[in-house]
Amino acid sequence: MYDFMIIGGGIIGMSTAMQLLERYPDKKLLVLEKESGPAEHQTGHNSGVIHAGVYYTPGSLKAQFCLEGNRDTKAFCQENNIPYDECGKLLVATNALEMQRMKALWERTEANGLERYWLNADELREREPNITGIGAIFVPSSGIVNYKQVTQAMALKVIERGGEIRYNTNVTGLNETSDEVCAHTTTGAYNAQYLISCSGLMADRVVRMLGLEPEFQICPFRGEYFLLPEKHNQIVNHLIYPIPNPAMPFLGVHLTRMIDGTVTVGPNAVLAWKREGYRKTDISLSDSLESLRYPGIRKVLMDNLKPGLLELKNSLFKGGYLKEVQKYCPSVEKSDLTPYPAGVRAQAVSKDGKLVDDFLFVRTARTINVCNAPSPAATSALPIGRHIIKEAQTQFGLD
Ligand SMILES: Cc1cc2nc3c(=O)[nH]c(=O)nc-3n(C[C@H](O)[C@H](O)[C@H](O)COP(=O)(O)OP(=O)(O)OC[C@H]3O[C@@H](n4cnc5c(N)ncnc54)[C@H](O)[C@@H]3O)c2cc1C
Repeated sequence: MYDFMIIGGGIIGMSTAMQLLERYPDKKLLVLEKESGPAEHQTGHNSGVIHAGVYYTPGSLKAQFCLEGNRDTKAFCQENNIPYDECGKLLVATNALEMQRMKALWERTEANGLERYWLNADELREREPNITGIGAIFVPSSGIVNYKQVTQAMALKVIERGGEIRYNTNVTGLNETSDEVCAHTTTGAYNAQYLISCSGLMADRVVRMLGLEPEFQICPFRGEYFLLPEKHNQIVNHLIYPIPNPAMPFLGVHLTRMIDGTVTVGPNAVLAWKREGYRKTDISLSDSLESLRYPGIRKVLMDNLKPGLLELKNSLFKGGYLKEVQKYCPSVEKSDLTPYPAGVRAQAVSKDGKLVDDFLFVRTARTINVCNAPSPAATSALPIGRHIIKEAQTQFGLD
């Protein structure tokens, strides 16, 4: 019998496991992961940005954890010799409407306690000769890292601290009693005093295994990228983001310097036809029907029909995608957009058709389930793990 069992070997599961063993070195802990290694899903298919905390509602868990996570992630990388680069980020306005939105964003960055600078068009050109805009917000604390590498280092610490990780172990059923939780898996049954689920794109399905009917469903959104050719590796000095439309949940197509020296463009946001499908042709009939049958997801699609169709068009035809980029980086050409692996975001959607904005946790007597941990959850993984431990202490009556 284990003390703690964790479902999910992504960055949230590994961060929680690593920190639980630091706090409780004598406890027995087991991580169950269905893939053959850590970070095979969202954590291994993202932009690799250490976010600063620009966008999030002041006072939300996202705002708080992102700010703390930005510092913690860099410190963790330093301690573990993981390369990262504090390259800073520019949010670029290209027209009068975006300038208006940029002013609102400026207020928000103040409320969120960020160091930031207002750049006029000349100052922007000086920093980024290849970027066109009428102004920008410069946030110096944004950075880049490879989150798979971070998660691998966390997994190593779990093992060093006496934890066990079972890969290739898919949890197919859960049974919670007043004394324990039993996980039925493809490699046998495991029992623990307490369970923490960090199962990303499968979060709602795991909650259902506990016999609960969740108030949300995971909606998978594909995020597609292109890689710029090597000749463009120096095209930008910072991360370049558009000024987001506040009505839209995602950040818009950005130019991202990656930690391996390359530059990517993306991601867009289109409904995925398979929860863990990374190729355009990956389609699961049951996943698609599950999404389309859920009234909340249907409402989100209907409410965002026009922008949704535009995203779909840009996903199918490079020309539209190119236009998005050329708005602020005119020297990128169609032939520069070369293939790059996509990611799939796990976004919780409520029954009444709202995208759940903040991080969300669902609890039972012996379990804590991370149910909404989209971006900036990779940046925030260390504070999220700490938060879960605090919750566990109160809820499970631990010291
Ligand atoms: C396109 C894209 C770009 C993003 N960009 C950024 C960014 O730049 N910065 C940032 O901070 N965040 C970013 N994010 C968000 C970030 O990647 C995620 O929030 C974070 O990785 C979530 O981690 P996780 O551990 O919850 O999920 P995951 O990494 O998805 O891990 C969940 C794990 O649970 C396992 N699992 C699920 N069900 C079971 C089961 N039944 N049995 C066993 N194992 C199971 C899965 O196999 C998986 O390994 C981005 C996400 C995407 C998709």
